[in-house]
Parts: sequence; structure tokens; C-alpha cells
Amino acid sequence: MNATTYNLYREHAWPTFRCGNIGQADAVELKCLLVSKGVRVDGEIYERFGNTYRINPSPSTCNSMKLSDGTNVQLTDWPSSPFRLKVSDGKPALFCEEEFVCYVTFHPYSDFYSQKTSSGLPFIGNAVLQGCDFVSFPYLWHCEYAAAGKPCQFCFNKPQSPAVPYSDVAEIVRYATLHDKVNSVQLTGGSTFSGQNEHRHIVSYLNAIANSGADLTGEILLYITPPTHLAYIDEYFSLGASRIACSIEVWDREKAQIITPGKSQYATRERHLNALTYIAETYGNNKAFCNFVIGLESVETLKEGATWLARRGIIPSASVWMPMGRAVMGSLETPDVTYFRRVKEMLSDLYIRYNLSPAGGCGLNVCIEKDISMARI
Ligand code: SF4
Repeated sequence: MNATTYNLYREHAWPTFRCGNIGQADAVELKCLLVSKGVRVDGEIYERFGNTYRINPSPSTCNSMKLSDGTNVQLTDWPSSPFRLKVSDGKPALFCEEEFVCYVTFHPYSDFYSQKTSSGLPFIGNAVLQGCDFVSFPYLWHCEYAAAGKPCQFCFNKPQSPAVPYSDVAEIVRYATLHDKVNSVQLTGGSTFSGQNEHRHIVSYLNAIANSGADLTGEILLYITPPTHLAYIDEYFSLGASRIACSIEVWDREKAQIITPGKSQYATRERHLNALTYIAETYGNNKAFCNFVIGLESVETLKEGATWLARRGIIPSASVWMPMGRAVMGSLETPDVTYFRRVKEMLSDLYIRYNLSPAGGCGLNVCIEKDISMARI
């Protein structure tokens, strides 16, 4: 696709929404605003649609909704949000500052969150369904940085131990593939000092999933601490990982030292870049990715980091900052639509220029890389 057709597409194919005083936004920009600010969800939404769709008052279920163009968006019920979800003409409808934005839909009803594994581990609190085809494990083993008093400021995970049992994870994956049209998995845990402790867990999770009989026709995304021993990475790919992330989260070094003190001090920027470069050079483009938390630094520093990675075939991926009462560098203020627009256009240009194809099925809940790349097809 050349620049001209892309520009034409950018102007004409992304539907726009009117968002009260916030302004005009396309689907990706609206998603960013909704993820960062949450949505006031009327109780009637849960009452009317909770028995027929995947929508639940428990925050542990990581609800999501689909905008009128199909974009999948995290639905965090947040009382002070300018956005509101209420029933209008019998349908779930999104409002911004009481002005109608669009009707939304939900994913099909699922019994996933009322299940327990054969050992008695509840699915809820350990795994979430994301979008239309992913099951995600947000915190399989505990974070050594948080335990050492150096958690990332934006992170909601709490130190926990021991790791979620391997066989339970495999059982949950199998269940989700059989009952919820899941074909892909996200495996995430806390960061570790050398990558050695998590190595044992990751190998066991990948083996357990491979032997579970789960029909995974999509991808296994693995989020790891960049290991000092790069051969671990080869082992993870050989055991079934499709892509591997070593996430820097914030490129601005001064801010990173404050916002992600453990990552900056223990895993270091250099180790992240070494591991990511190793993956790209050994396994090719689109096999390594690196998440950034969008909304914590200037577009300029973000662009610097994203460009460094993209040039080497590493996908800069993007999850939107969700403060929800947790301040970062003393602030709870989320960016405006102009900031999100600039980030979207910057990433879109990089994905096109360097032929990068982010993972994420029909789009994950708080990440926007797949939405950006789908919007240009
Ligand atoms: S390294 Fe940061 S983001 Fe990762 S689990 Fe620890 S505190 Fe959370």
C-alpha cells in the first residue's frame, strides 16, 4: 500500500464518533478514551444483558464491548467517567457527557467465569477471555520487582505466590478452546531478576498446554523478562511460543526510572533491547514485540523508541494507560484525543513502513496495535 492510498483510507474508512465536549474521534481514538477514562455502566445493562451476553458486574471478568464498527474495547465500570453505558431503545448505548455516541454490542454469553478446574481453582481471578478469540493469564507468577519494593507505578498486580499450577492453566486453555471459540493464548507473569525463575514456569506452562489437547489454531503470546541467558528464548519458541514480548513500557529514560524502577534497575534497557534484537535477528520480523503504556510520556519519546524497534522488525505494541485511581508520577490525568491521534498515526506509519503485523485476533481489550493495523487493511 503506498502513502496515497493509505491517506485516502485514513480519511475515509475509519468511522468517526462525536464525543460531547471531547471532540471528534475515530474508533481507535474512541477506544483509547474509553480505556483510559472507563465507563459508567448502568445497573440495567447487567440486568438486561448479563444472561445473554458476556457482561458481568465483577471487575475480575475484564468486560469488553464492541463499538458499532466492531472495535473491541475494555469496559471498566468507573463512576467518575464522562462516558456512560445505558439502555436506549432496548439496546446498549454509549453516551459521552449525556450525548449519544453509538450503540454497542457484547460478546456471546459464556459460562467461563463460573468454572473451576478439577483441582478446584476458580477460572475467575486467574484468567480472562479477551476479544473474540483469546484467553489471557495476566499474572501467572509473582513479580520479584514488586516484592523488592520497586513495582511499576501503573501496575495493579499485587505480589503473590506461588505460581498458578501448570495443569490448571492447561485445563483452562482447553476449556476455552472447546467452549468459547478461543484459539490463542496470552501468558504473562511478574518480572524476575534474571529470568531464571520464570524459565521453569514458562517451560512447564508451554509443555502442559501442548499436552492438554487444546486446539490452538491461533497464537501463543509470551511476555517475559529479558533473560540473561538468551538460549531460554530458543527453548520457548521450540515449545510453541508464537511471539515473545520483552516490554519496556516507557521509553523516556528519566521517566522510566521513576515509573518502572524495577525494570530500569534490574532488567535494564540494554537487556530488553538485546533480547528483542536477538529474537528479531534469529527468528525474523514480527516475532518480537515490546509493549508501551500509552499516555505516560510525550509522543516524541514514544516515537523515538517505537522507531528504534520497528526498524529492526520488532513490533512496538501499545496498551492504553488506565489510572483508575492509581497515580503515576503524582498524576491521574489521562491524555486528550489529540495525543491518542498522534500516537495512532505514528504507529500506523511504522507498521506500514516496516511491514509489521501485530497479534491480537479481532483486537484485545486495552491494546490498540491490532486495531490500528486492521484499520488499514
Ligand atoms: S514488572 Fe512492573 S508491570 Fe510487571 S508485574 Fe512487576 S510491577 Fe507489574
